Amino acid sequence: MILRDDVIAWIRAYAAAIADQKDHLTRLDADIGDGDHGSNMDRGFQAVLAKLPDVGDKDIGAIFKTVGMTLVSTVGGASGPLYGTLFLQMGSAASGKLELSLADWAAVLQAGTDGVVMRGKAAPGDKTMVDTLAPAVAALRAAAARGAGLAEALEEAARAAEQGMAATIPLVARKGRASYLGQRSAGHQDPGATSSGMLFRTAARAWGGHA
Ligand code: ADP
Ligand code: MG
Repeated sequence: MILRDDVIAWIRAYAAAIADQKDHLTRLDADIGDGDHGSNMDRGFQAVLAKLPDVGDKDIGAIFKTVGMTLVSTVGGASGPLYGTLFLQMGSAASGKLELSLADWAAVLQAGTDGVVMRGKAAPGDKTMVDTLAPAVAALRAAAARGAGLAEALEEAARAAEQGMAATIPLVARKGRASYLGQRSAGHQDPGATSSGMLFRTAARAWGGHA
């Protein structure tokens, strides 16, 4: 089971990973966008860290909703509303819960991903964060359906996310700022797919030791 404190530890670990990878994310965005993805995400998750002490006694749904609202109001750009929607929808799916099973976690991320797709209208292959989210969630659901253990499922999801992330390199962007470059967007890894992949790697690291 994933407990509320585990969720908070994951959010903290993700904020730390974003701070660590800020320059890398910004360089990726400089190649095919406007070079602000690292600073956008870091600003948002530093604001999230500042809010966490207020939500430690709330349910997991409320915690994710606070993350989502904080991201919407601090990140800006395309990724602010998209990451905001991801966490707001995750919050709705986890409403009232104090712990999550693997199946719950898969359902929560499916709801978040559906929200991103609804909001941004990107399909897999458009070279966006959806190219990471969709295969990672599919891997989680498949692992949950066959009764895999949590650590194994999280590792499979992280690997699927990383494959999705790398698979954006040859793609031509069809959504967002990178799409303005047309064919010239090919040959670069998508920044949002990269930051999204970090969600899954961080979960595998944070919770991989759980039964
Ligand atoms: P901006 O493009 O406004 O500068 P960011 O640089 O923070 O915002 O984020 C760019 C990332 O947002 C892209 O790498 C891509 O993954 C994601 N993105 C942009 N538009 C969409 C969309 N319509 N659907 C899904 N993801 C998108
Ligand atoms: Mg940008």
